[in-house]
This record gives sequence, C-alpha cells and structure tokens, in this order.
Amino acid sequence: MTLFHPSPAQVAAIARTESPVCAFLHDLDALRCQIRSLTAPLPAGTEFFYAVKANNDPRVLRALAPHVAGFEVASSGEILRVREAVGPGARIVMGGPARTEGDIRTLLAHGVERLHVESLHSLRLANAVAERSGAILPVLLRVNLAGPVPGATLTMGGAATQFGIEQASIPDAIATLRDCRALRFEGFHFHTVSNNRDAAGHAALCAAEIDLARAWAGEHGLDLRVINLGGGWGVDYADPAWRFDTERLASALRPLAGSGPRLQFECGRIVAAYHAAYLCEVLDLKRSHGRAFALLRGGTHHFRLPSSWAHDHPFHILPREEWDHPWPRPEIARMPVTLAGELCTPKDVLARDVPVARLRVGDLVCFEMAGAYGWDISHHDFLCHAHPERIFLDQGRMAAAEVTV
Ligand SMILES: *Cc1c(COP(=O)(O)O)cnc(C)c1O
Repeated sequence: MTLFHPSPAQVAAIARTESPVCAFLHDLDALRCQIRSLTAPLPAGTEFFYAVKANNDPRVLRALAPHVAGFEVASSGEILRVREAVGPGARIVMGGPARTEGDIRTLLAHGVERLHVESLHSLRLANAVAERSGAILPVLLRVNLAGPVPGATLTMGGAATQFGIEQASIPDAIATLRDCRALRFEGFHFHTVSNNRDAAGHAALCAAEIDLARAWAGEHGLDLRVINLGGGWGVDYADPAWRFDTERLASALRPLAGSGPRLQFECGRIVAAYHAAYLCEVLDLKRSHGRAFALLRGGTHHFRLPSSWAHDHPFHILPREEWDHPWPRPEIARMPVTLAGELCTPKDVLARDVPVARLRVGDLVCFEMAGAYGWDISHHDFLCHAHPERIFLDQGRMAAAEVTV
C-alpha cells in the first residue's frame, strides 16, 4: 500500500513554526515502492519511462532514475531539468504538440534519444535542424486514432484534438519521412487516453495499437523498432485505496512483447500521485447561505488539480489541540463543509459539501494523492501568497526540508 499518510511525528515537525501550516510533504521511499510495483510485472521487451510533466521536482526525478528506463519530456525546459537533476546518462525521449527549432537544437545538444513527431510540418522542421547540425534524429510518428476510445477521463486521441497526426494522414507522414534524410523512422507513438481505470480495456487498446503499427510497417516496408503506448494508467481520486490492475495489463501484453519491436510506456500520474500529501491549516470557519465553509492557508494556486478536474479531492482531518486565543475556538461538527483556499475567487475550492465529524480553526486538512499534476500545474504567484513548504522524506528522514517563498 503506497498511499502516503504523514505520521503524527512528521506533522508535529512541520507544524512547529509560528506561521500557519501549508506544506507539500513527499515520501520518496513510498515513491520508490510505487515505481517498483509498476515496473516489476512488465514483460521483457517493454520499457517504462516517467512522464516528467506530472511532477518535475529534481528530488522526484533522482528517486525515480534508478527504477525507470528513462524520462519522457515535452519541452526544452524539461530536458534541462532532467539533465540537471539526473545527469548526462539518463535516457530522454521527447514528445509534445508544438515544436520550435530551438527545441530541436536543444534536444540534439542534450542527447535526447528520440523525438515523437505530431505533424508533417514538424517532421520537416526537425529534419531541417538535424540536417544543419549533421545529426540523424530517430523519430516516432504520433498517431491520433480514427475511432472513439471509451472509458477514460481525458482523451487525446480517437477524437478531434490538437494531438498527433490523424490516422488517415499517417501514409502521407510516412511518405514525407522518406524525404527527410536527417530523420530515421523507428516506429509509432500512441498516447490516446489519460487516467484510464480499466486495465483490461487499456490492454485491448494497446493491443489494437500494436496491430495497427505492425500493419503499417508491413504495408509500407518499414523497420519497426519501437511502439510507444503512452501513459494513462489510472488512479481513482474518489477511492484512494483503489489500484490500477498493472498485473492484468502486463499479462495481456506478455504474448505481444519480447519478439519484434520494443514496447514503451511513459506514465506520469500513476507514478507520482500517491507519494505526496498537501497539508493546510484551517484559518477560519464560517456559514454562508446555510452552508459551512473552511478557509485554508493554501488553495488552488498550490494545488489546482481538484478545480481543474472539478472533483472533491480526498482528504482527512488532523486535529490539533493548541488554541492560544482568549476567545472561543470556532468549530463545526457533523455537517458538510466546503474547503476553500485563500484566493479571492469563488473557484478556489478543493472539496465541496463533504461531511466531517468535527473541524476547528487550527486543525490541519491533509489532502491525499497530491503528488501528480498538483504543484506543477498551479498558478503559484496569483495573489502573491507565500509558497507552501515543500518537504521530502527520504529513507525515513526529513532530509530536505526547504521553504520557497
Ligand atoms: C501527459 C502525457 C503522458 C503521461 O500521462 P499520464 O496520464 O500522466 O500517465 C504521457 N505521454 C504524453 C505524450 C503525455 O502528454
């Protein structure tokens, strides 16, 4: 079980400062456990990359580095992050829909091993830059499937989106690639869904993608070395104990892996979600039009995930007994509460009308599953509130506590 709940001692250590508590607490040991449990069942012939955009903190990247095939990046900045955190030896592959000449120069300069190309224009651009620098750049063609894909929360393919090359245009892309002397075709890329909780359905989708890649390679006489099946292995924010059935996906892939092209995955959310908690102190409580609101030190400027997904983020309450004021301590009991942040916008809400047994000013709210697409997707400087502490537990110790203001 890798869902991270901070211990009372860890919380006490964080809460010892004068100012109200606001902190991300990451457990790097739990993160290492999680990545090992994801990669262990995978058959030979598969490679697991970490999608850096889910959480690009250097301590996270360093903790993961020994346990992953490499890193999937989507910008020049992420290339530099990985190189700074993990060094020149880390394998990097690069994707993303909007490419510049500068990106291609950066990836060539920093030893990125492959580019996932999403349009015919990007193919020509990458070819021109690689040719000027005398390099041969390996590429995958990213496909946007023609048919609809059921069952996932976010869909990048099988629908009208800005991602990939639509299936009907893949023969044109293959023809264009033949004229690109500085590019080398290595295979196809599919990142079709995000947060898929159906492992059997995900396996079926992967199998269909593998078939399609093989059919194109046969039809066009291509040397198919790699099929990248993207990320998208799901988590369930409504049920933190639920786990994606990695074994089921792995066993469905076993007959398809091993001989032939390497299969690659590049997951972010399932790797990084579970190992971090976001702790916020209750600054105030009020009733408004018949509903109860808790005002937190923190909010969506640190942790935009619940508002971007419009969900109630899972949390538990850590009661604290100290109360230093001479007036009565505000509290609510046995009623639903809406957890709002410190921003001056009604959108700054992390959970709505969730029943609680008791909540008092000065208690802490601990949001679980806060490690992926949390801090990294948030607008930190909106309203200029102090940033949260970001604390990292490593081998049981709070090794790298740090305040960034
Ligand atoms: C975001 C992204 C991923 C990671 O997706 P998760 O749902 O976090 O696993 C992988 N590949 C591409 C191209 C992406 O854009």
